[in-house]
Amino acid sequence: MCTTMKAAIAHSFGDELSLEEIDKPTPKSNQVSIQIETAGLCHTDIHAVHGDWPAKPKMPLIPGHEGVGLVAETGTDVKEVKEGDRVALPWLAYACGACEHCVSGYETLCYQQENAGYSVDGSYAEYALGYGKYVTKVPDAVDPIDAAPLTCAGVTTYKAVKESKARPSELVVVFGIGGLGHLAIQYARIAGATVAAVDLVDKKLDLARELGATYTFNPKNDDVVEELQKLGGAHAAISTAVSPKAFEQAYQSLRRGGRLVFVGLPADNHIQLPIFETVLQGITIKGSIVGTRRDLEEVFQLHADGHTKVLRETRTLDTVNESFDDVLHSRMEQPRIVFDMRSNGAQA
Ligand code: NAD
Ligand code: ZN
Ligand code: ZN
Repeated sequence: MCTTMKAAIAHSFGDELSLEEIDKPTPKSNQVSIQIETAGLCHTDIHAVHGDWPAKPKMPLIPGHEGVGLVAETGTDVKEVKEGDRVALPWLAYACGACEHCVSGYETLCYQQENAGYSVDGSYAEYALGYGKYVTKVPDAVDPIDAAPLTCAGVTTYKAVKESKARPSELVVVFGIGGLGHLAIQYARIAGATVAAVDLVDKKLDLARELGATYTFNPKNDDVVEELQKLGGAHAAISTAVSPKAFEQAYQSLRRGGRLVFVGLPADNHIQLPIFETVLQGITIKGSIVGTRRDLEEVFQLHADGHTKVLRETRTLDTVNESFDDVLHSRMEQPRIVFDMRSNGAQA
């Protein structure tokens, strides 16, 4: 059996990734080795490699937290999955399982968490390690190419819609119709809301309409805040855009009592919001970080039942650097890029 694998590796912040042949990782007793079939490209991977955020990732780093593949080897203590199972390796690679956050349904807030493609190596490789308790089984009815974006873009926006408390008849506005936003629209529709979509790229707004958005606005041509206030203001706004300006507009688009959910994580980390209006208008602001294992199971179930559509295009891992560039410049045909490791000479 081959003991090496191909991986895309970042060696220092801002440099291109290099495709290298390295040793396959060996699972510890509570880990599994996953033969990666598909790996989604989340904008977070670009932030990681660029060192955009206050908390920095490990270096060198194999990015990727939308990994889907088959369990190839299990550690001696793993009982949750077995060899051959198809599993997803999400951002929340590990949590302690015992702290106040873990036991109260917010394992994503655990101080001891590990994050795939950030604090530990991720899925831009032919094999990756996951923890038996923190990988999620992918149902047979979900195509592994769809499963990859659902593993972060899906679970994150599903959770964000839950956090927005959107309900039937309400107006929900989604800022940023990329990998995350195109799924946020669908979950908000499933919650029964009427959806408005905002993006700087007209092609993304066309997609938004196809996915069920009733209203679309492009800040380049429209006064988004005024347009949304003409509609009465949004009950909830979800910002996945990689721009602080969008967060401020999302805030201003709310009606009294409105809820704003922060999801996007632009490198430029601050916005300015008024205290007086927030108090007098009873505005809620909520940060939402990915979702739990249970949320991901629900996301897969919704997809298996035909309620969601993942708009993605497949590429090989050796296109990783141009793919990063294409995401930064919105040059793809579809909102999400998925590296298909099976068409990469990837199987050992
Ligand atoms: P993406 O690049 O696919 O989508 C971002 C979209 O925002 C693009 O369509 C872009 O045109 C649009 N946009 C940029 N500026 C805008 C503006 N001023 N107004 C409206 N739209 C604008 O990225 P993605 O993979 O969907 O990720 C989005 C962000 O969410 C990233 O910062 C990522 O790190 C973050 N993220 C957060 C979580 C979380 O748990 N909170 C999880 C995953 C990703
Ligand atoms: Zn992500
Ligand atoms: Zn914990």
